[in-house]
Amino acid sequence: MSKTQDAYKEIESVIGSEFITDKDFMKAAYSRNVDPAFPDRWADMIVRPESTEEISEIVKIANKYKIHMVPRGGGADLVGGSVSKGGILLDLTRMNKIIEINENDFYCEVECGITWGNLVSQLHSKGLTTGVLGPGSGFSATIGGGLSNSTAGFGSTKYGVVPDICLGVEVVLPNPQGTIIRTGAAANKYAKPFCRYGVAPDFTGVFMGDVGTMGIKTKAFLKLFPETPYKAQRYYMLHKNDYNKVVELMYKLQSQVRDGLHDVLVVPLPLLQILSMMVENKPQKRPRLKGPVFSILVEAMDERILEIYLEKVTQIMENDTRPFEYQEMDLDAPLAKDWKFNLKYAYNYFNKYISIVPPKISCTTCHKIPISAIPETAEASAAFDNRYKTEFPSQSISLYATVIFLMPNGHCVIVGGFNADNVEEQRQISMNMWHKKLRNQIRYGGVHYWLGESISQSIVEADAYTPEFVQFFKDVKKAVDPNYLLSPNKFHLYNYEHDYKQHIIKEED
Ligand SMILES: Cc1cc2nc3c(=O)[nH]c(=O)nc-3n(C[C@H](O)[C@H](O)[C@H](O)COP(=O)(O)OP(=O)(O)OC[C@H]3O[C@@H](n4cnc5c(N)ncnc54)[C@H](O)[C@@H]3O)c2cc1C
Repeated sequence: MSKTQDAYKEIESVIGSEFITDKDFMKAAYSRNVDPAFPDRWADMIVRPESTEEISEIVKIANKYKIHMVPRGGGADLVGGSVSKGGILLDLTRMNKIIEINENDFYCEVECGITWGNLVSQLHSKGLTTGVLGPGSGFSATIGGGLSNSTAGFGSTKYGVVPDICLGVEVVLPNPQGTIIRTGAAANKYAKPFCRYGVAPDFTGVFMGDVGTMGIKTKAFLKLFPETPYKAQRYYMLHKNDYNKVVELMYKLQSQVRDGLHDVLVVPLPLLQILSMMVENKPQKRPRLKGPVFSILVEAMDERILEIYLEKVTQIMENDTRPFEYQEMDLDAPLAKDWKFNLKYAYNYFNKYISIVPPKISCTTCHKIPISAIPETAEASAAFDNRYKTEFPSQSISLYATVIFLMPNGHCVIVGGFNADNVEEQRQISMNMWHKKLRNQIRYGGVHYWLGESISQSIVEADAYTPEFVQFFKDVKKAVDPNYLLSPNKFHLYNYEHDYKQHIIKEED
């Protein structure tokens, strides 16, 4: 028997034959994430453990046979992070229990394979929320995926990215012992997991945004907040297409409304134009689209405070914008005053920014920049797209941003990328251009967050890390994963000795 077959038998004896498979149709079902560029990649086996202890045993077996592993939650990754060529694909979605919702002390303990939709709806019935509700893919994406991808989503203007609500994790280290550790307050075996900092250095951070390279997260301790009962949505269109004004207004909103802002999103003019062309139920009059649209969602614990926030927003916006309604371009769109919070809104609003002209899908390049850098990065991005226009896949649309999402303090997420057909003939062209565009963003100081394979590799290729940083990263990786078995392709960290410098691409501007 091969080492893969031996490992299969041993894992089967740990988790039972129902929860492991090497059948082709299952491998095919797990062979993709949501992108057009990666080829189908089949793992040697799909394994679906139910407990931390089972994962620890699987890790020991993987180390015994030196077989690599990739963790997977909902598989809704956009950058090739939760697919494995060969090796063990660890599907964590059977680990979907809520262990504790502590209503008095505002924290919860959950298994990392639970979906956001499941957790948030159960919290909602108790008048509680995690603040940031996870990604637009939250009906299938998991808490573990959100922590590993440093995911931003509904609520991020106020509550930050998913790791910002994390108080600690339980992790299986990918070492030969399959060591299980807990971080945050839970590292004190006498303490409840109610806070993150204090017991030891912040080892939770080692596993946040690690795209499953440092450990397999099995449980998470998360902050809870009382649900904010009053929310209102307003839309404003800028009088002209001017990113300097966008910066000015974002700055004013952040400095004058701050806590009241739940989400501030700016939809750029080119995207509005594309969306208005694609609408099914168009108004007779052509919409007057002059500039980007701000969507401003404010929330407050008291209705009177909400009114004050709305007044402030109106004052800030009145000179440079006009009130806007999406009904001006789509008769089926709800009016701002009729907007009501529900999970369908939280988990659907993002789709149109990711797949702007279906069935093409995006090579996404979402990244963060300081708000003051919006105008210059918009120009840099347009110059790049123009310069390399012949290298994009055919009929691809590349946009600086499909939406600009304000984060806490003074930075924002630029959601964007270019789209391509999900066909074999275009994959290499798409992949080359994807890495090239990512390198360009990294070199203008952009900071990506879901790093998967395409983005983490591009950071290395752009020569963004100092040699000292790479050495530190490799040493930390070696401490938790001496055989380099977990997610080996990410960051080009194939093994401890591997020379990352061979991947650096220098010839571009
Ligand atoms: C329609 C759509 C909308 C989206 N909207 C957003 C959005 O609003 N914001 C955003 O940031 N992203 C968004 N995404 C991208 C992605 O879905 C999210 O980042 C999401 O958090 C991924 O969660 P998942 O459970 O599907 O993770 P997976 O795809 O399963 O995994 C993501 C990464 O995390 C690792 N991983 C997963 N679980 C674990 C674990 N338990 N332990 C260790 N490593 C693990 C994987 O190896 C992989 O690298 C969207 C994607 C789609 C398709």
